[in-house]
Amino acid sequence: MTSQAPRSSEPRLDLSPSQHSVPINEAFGDLARLVAHACQTPLALVYLADGTRQWFRAKADLEIPQIEASDRLWRFMACQRDFFVVIQSQEGGIAPGRSPLPVGSLLRFLVGVPLLTAGGQILGAICALDEVVHDISDEQIEILRVLARQAIAQIELHHNLTNLAQAIAERQAVEDVLRQTESKYRSIFENAVEGIFQTTPEGRFLSANPALARLYGYDSPEALIANLTNIEKQLYVDPHRRQEFIDRMATEDAVTEFESAVYQRDGSIIWITENARTVRDADGTILYYEGFVEDVTQHKRAEDALRESEQRFRVIFEKAAIGLSLTDMQGRLMAANPAMQAMLGYSNMELQQCSLDHYTYPDDLYPDLALYEELKLGQRDQYDIEKRYVRKDGRILWARLTVSLVCNAEGMPLFSICMMQDITEQRQSEAKLLRAALHDTLTGLPNRTFLMERLQEAVTLTQRDSQAQFAVLFLDLDRFKIVNDSIGHLAGDRLLVEIAQRISACIRAEDTVARLGGDEFAILLTDISSIQDAIDVADRIQQTLKTPFNLGSQEVFSSVSIGIASSMSGYEQPEHLLRDADNAMYRAKAQGKARCVVFDTHMHDRALQLLRLENDLRRAVERQEFLVYYQPIVSLDMGRIAGFEALVRWRHPERGMVSPADFVPIAEETGLILPLGYWVLRESCRQIRAWQETFPQYPPLFISVNLSGRQFTQPGLVECIEQVLAETGLEGGSLRLEITESVLIENADMVTKLLERLRSQRIHLCIDDFGTGYSSLSYLHRFPVNVLKIDRSFINKMGAEDENSEIVRTIVSLAHNLGVDVTAEGVETEAQLVKLWALQCEYAQGHFFSTALSSEAAEALLAAAPRW
Ligand code: C2E
Ligand code: CA
Ligand code: CA
Repeated sequence: MTSQAPRSSEPRLDLSPSQHSVPINEAFGDLARLVAHACQTPLALVYLADGTRQWFRAKADLEIPQIEASDRLWRFMACQRDFFVVIQSQEGGIAPGRSPLPVGSLLRFLVGVPLLTAGGQILGAICALDEVVHDISDEQIEILRVLARQAIAQIELHHNLTNLAQAIAERQAVEDVLRQTESKYRSIFENAVEGIFQTTPEGRFLSANPALARLYGYDSPEALIANLTNIEKQLYVDPHRRQEFIDRMATEDAVTEFESAVYQRDGSIIWITENARTVRDADGTILYYEGFVEDVTQHKRAEDALRESEQRFRVIFEKAAIGLSLTDMQGRLMAANPAMQAMLGYSNMELQQCSLDHYTYPDDLYPDLALYEELKLGQRDQYDIEKRYVRKDGRILWARLTVSLVCNAEGMPLFSICMMQDITEQRQSEAKLLRAALHDTLTGLPNRTFLMERLQEAVTLTQRDSQAQFAVLFLDLDRFKIVNDSIGHLAGDRLLVEIAQRISACIRAEDTVARLGGDEFAILLTDISSIQDAIDVADRIQQTLKTPFNLGSQEVFSSVSIGIASSMSGYEQPEHLLRDADNAMYRAKAQGKARCVVFDTHMHDRALQLLRLENDLRRAVERQEFLVYYQPIVSLDMGRIAGFEALVRWRHPERGMVSPADFVPIAEETGLILPLGYWVLRESCRQIRAWQETFPQYPPLFISVNLSGRQFTQPGLVECIEQVLAETGLEGGSLRLEITESVLIENADMVTKLLERLRSQRIHLCIDDFGTGYSSLSYLHRFPVNVLKIDRSFINKMGAEDENSEIVRTIVSLAHNLGVDVTAEGVETEAQLVKLWALQCEYAQGHFFSTALSSEAAEALLAAAPRW
């Protein structure tokens, strides 16, 4: 801590009186006395000046006036380089006016030697003065010179001493400061949390603070310095670190945040960072290194853990099979993983650059954004949503998203993470399932369930808004069964598909066509202005079906019967609409098919009536309100009664005798026909067996019993008949069963076996109402039929040589060719009878002979034994 301020090589002596201590005054006093003594003068001076001031140190034991310092004296002496003499006199010497001696004094004589430093600086002079002039010897001069040197030496000595004292004082002050500073630094050094060190380039510790000792696992800095003597080998886990440290300290003179793993004394490893600098001497040689050490193990471990978890996250992010993306709080996508990129068909970069609406299905954008907003506002910390995206290739992607908020430790939201699962396939199969549940597989049209849902919606809408009127069309293909049977099921299916297409083409997109099953379709027309709209649609359908269908090699014609019910009748139940449309359709069928009937209230009343009838019918079975009437069947060969047709009658308690035409269809529909039919069969068999016994003169009378389709197809029919025959004792050969063509054809699969069993009992099979149905004789080949009953509509119209007669002729001759007998129904006139005779028709039946009779009346007729 010494001052480095430069000094001039020749110090300028400070001679100011205040600086002079007593000893130099005494010394100068002694000198002055010696000068006076040597020159034998009463007065001597040690005259000192610094150029501006001058003062004397005089020999004080003489009574002489005080000499005033004067510029003249000083200027004079300042010019002297060696011994000088001034003699002031009137006669010779220096004139008083120019003399350096004080004016007005008695002093006339001055000798002296200047005080010259080695460097030539004049400090003053020593001189002797007197009122009288003296002779001065060489010896005296020499003494003066010696004394002058002594004076200079004195001055210099004094000066040096003064300087020395000052230096010492200065030094002490510096040392005080140093001491304070050092104690301050030592405290820091001792108490610092960081380790502080000084090490040599060779790898030894010059100093270490307690913190460093603790850090490295030593009890004290001394123990550290004593034991840790090779930093490279003992300290660094990776010895190369020491070399790196040294290299950096050599080239950069410092290291900052130099991180290394080091061994503690017990061998455990910690992580440290060093901040150090190189300390060099004046020549630049490295003296040592000094610096700080910080234990960053905790930090490092946390950092490692973080890095590891980051790494793990990255791997998961990159490799995950589900889509993952991170979105910042402004809703901008920060990253999407490869799975998500693959799902959407966009690269990470593309996804980051375009906004969400670019690849979100428009309808699904808002719900997602709304939920994200709630997430941002902290109203939820996660949400799930299923939404559609539009892939880069334009395909739709269905995805299930789980979006969660990620917050920092303080709960501040940082970003959101989105997990995305491709559920397109699942959605597609769901849609397929849903479609399958609501659609018909053959035609692809909606099914009954679907229609009923739409119908319910329409009913609800109409209840709210009376303007929203709609109509239901119930369609049933005419004669589909026979088409199906004659061209095969595959072609039948194709026909249904094509019909479905044609019907669909007749309606608007907002309407619904459904296939209800078999050959039944229904149409819901929404938003119609009047019933005429529905009728127009029905007409269009009829029109479009007029064009034949081309099924492979076959051309097929088809028509439909259509029933219409409209919301204008005020419905609350969709089922009722469909039911009434169905009723209207039946009416259309009854009116001759290929037409359309609008359900009206009259039909509704009729429907109600039917309902009542049905209830009555149930009771009638229990109350045995039924009777069997018998209509004779005449053998034209013999002209006598050969048997009877059993015709059921209902004696209604209020309505009187009810025609079977009015209740048989309802009995069929409700299944009541089964007990009723069984009863008719048993009763008529019993009766005919009784008459066979009562009237043995007749060839055994037969009974012809009508069987409805429902009865014919019921399981156990043959057993039932066998039981009746056994019970009544009637021969199988005396029983005829009448079924219509349609019953036969519609149950073709099961019929053959059944008929064979019946035939084995010799029971006859009779085709009723022949000519009104399919009018096809082909099945006569296939089934063991015994009798054809030509429908009375043909017989009725048989005039002379007309068309109907020809038809009857053809039927009779065809039947005969096949070995089948013919019965003519509804013979009302003799002319008809004559013709039938001529055609060699086997049997006849009709009002011409007799109406259907009660058993008593029939018995009376048998007894009368009429002949024709
Ligand atoms: P269906 O089998 O064709 O019976 C003949 C129908 O024609 C009978 O009417 C009969 O009274 C009527 N009829 C007979 N001759 C003439 C005639 O010369 N002129 C006219 N105009 N009609 C004549 P019904 O008794 O009213 O029977 C109607 C239908 O009811 C029957 O037609 C038959 O299909 C059904 N039916 C009657 N009884 C039964 C039964 O016990 N079981 C079943 N399943 N159906 C029955
Ligand atoms: Ca009949
Ligand atoms: Ca008939």
